[in-house]
Amino acid sequence: MAEQLKPEICVIGGGPGGIALAAAAANSGLPVVLVERDQLGGANLREGGVPTKALMAAAEIHDTLRRAPGFGVTGAPLQVNLARVQDHVRAVSEAAAANLSEERLAALGVTLIRAEGVFADRRTLMAGETAIRPRHFVIATGSVPLRPDHAGLDDPDILDVAGALDLSRKPSHLIVLGAGARALEFAQAVNRLGIDASVIDSGPALAGEDPELVAPLLDRLRLEGVRVREQATIVAFGRRKGGIRATLMEDGEEVGIDASHLVVVPGRVPAVDGLGLDAAGVDHGPAGIVVDRRLRTTNKRIYAIGDAVAGPASANRAEHHAGLVLAAITGRGGGDPETAVPYVVFTDPQFARVGISESEAREGNRIVRVLRVPFVENDLAQAERTTAGLIKVIASDRGRILGAAAVGRGAGEIIALWSLAMANGLGIEAMKSFPAPYPARADIARRVARAFDGPGRTPIRRSGLFSFIRRTG
Ligand SMILES: Cc1cc2nc3c(=O)[nH]c(=O)nc-3n(C[C@H](O)[C@H](O)[C@H](O)COP(=O)(O)OP(=O)(O)OC[C@H]3O[C@@H](n4cnc5c(N)ncnc54)[C@H](O)[C@@H]3O)c2cc1C
Repeated sequence: MAEQLKPEICVIGGGPGGIALAAAAANSGLPVVLVERDQLGGANLREGGVPTKALMAAAEIHDTLRRAPGFGVTGAPLQVNLARVQDHVRAVSEAAAANLSEERLAALGVTLIRAEGVFADRRTLMAGETAIRPRHFVIATGSVPLRPDHAGLDDPDILDVAGALDLSRKPSHLIVLGAGARALEFAQAVNRLGIDASVIDSGPALAGEDPELVAPLLDRLRLEGVRVREQATIVAFGRRKGGIRATLMEDGEEVGIDASHLVVVPGRVPAVDGLGLDAAGVDHGPAGIVVDRRLRTTNKRIYAIGDAVAGPASANRAEHHAGLVLAAITGRGGGDPETAVPYVVFTDPQFARVGISESEAREGNRIVRVLRVPFVENDLAQAERTTAGLIKVIASDRGRILGAAAVGRGAGEIIALWSLAMANGLGIEAMKSFPAPYPARADIARRVARAFDGPGRTPIRRSGLFSFIRRTG
């Protein structure tokens, strides 16, 4: 007979969201079972979230050394030892995995069941031979890559990011299929480490993001040598001697791009297939599991968090959801699951945003104020010669913060301050007056708020400032 467990909470999926929830619940003394069908850590560890950040750190050091002569510092010629870069990436991944180990979870009091979880009915999840009937379920099954549908992509030698990071010989040229956040991060990192990178996408790069802020990022990638082909008409991929060829249609003619390998970095879709959601009475669609503002599904016993719920795929969003759901379960209040969650692209320059964009704000026919400050006004950016950058804040006429976005070195840290403000209902006035350290980049966050000159005034115009940035940045 199947073993039966009746914990307070059963979490399905041991990625960043599921682990955060299970650990915090156990810490609060709640009996919790975590069901994971694979390794702990989810997409962040297994599919490249942490490893790519380690690769990018190596690439950034390379870039810093490359720029050293401009600071009056010179040294030996630069060399990249790919095997040692890979050692570094592996060491970082192992350290991150150790933070999420089964032993640590067990020490906290989390019961881990390694099996695929499938709902049998509205109250029961089967995980292998174990039937789990908790008071609350939390679905944290994350997302899976949505492989694009182009001829030739069924070749087994086509790589994903994790596979590319494991290549035993240095590739000469990678075609990166996809121009989303993770694709651009990866392409820039490998390019900086001496591997040619061509990015191809049938849509725009960083689709849906503010083009004003995406443009400087793409300019920089191209300047560094990453060939980014957006809106490409992709005909097919095929083998050639020594590698792979992408065939595109440009101006009515077929153009071939030859490379040693193809790395597919696609968009992601919620991982809900095979979970038995219909048996559980949980509504879902292609965008993800349907939830209310408290992240409750159509079955009130079941919550859903992270990538399984429609929205930008990010580990920090999954962890934010985890905190809100635990608060809801324990009756300690709640909060907004989406508005103040930042999204960061870790390229150099970084792109980061929180809240809504200028175009989204204008769609609502609101009177909006758009505030801009270029990074060139920050003395640390000057000292570090990283002045290409811009912060843009969208506020209501009365000074309510609707959104903020930035492109530039450290944009993620700057936007974190705006996220803090939005999460706590602070307005522009609060951002104007906090004592920022000089010459830290945080000062950019305050400086842009000071561009708000009170309700009912004429908004700062875009064109002059922007052309100034393009000239100086
Ligand atoms: C290359 C790459 C780089 C990234 N970089 C960043 C970054 O810099 N910053 C950032 O915030 N995010 C990044 N992400 C995105 C981030 O990894 C995801 O958004 C995050 O992992 C989502 O967390 P999650 O807990 O919702 O789900 P996931 O991490 O997808 O975890 C879900 C878990 O559930 C398990 N599971 C699924 N179905 C079942 C089932 N039926 N039974 C049992 N277990 C199940 C899966 O095996 C998986 O372990 C990156 C992703 C990739 C691929």
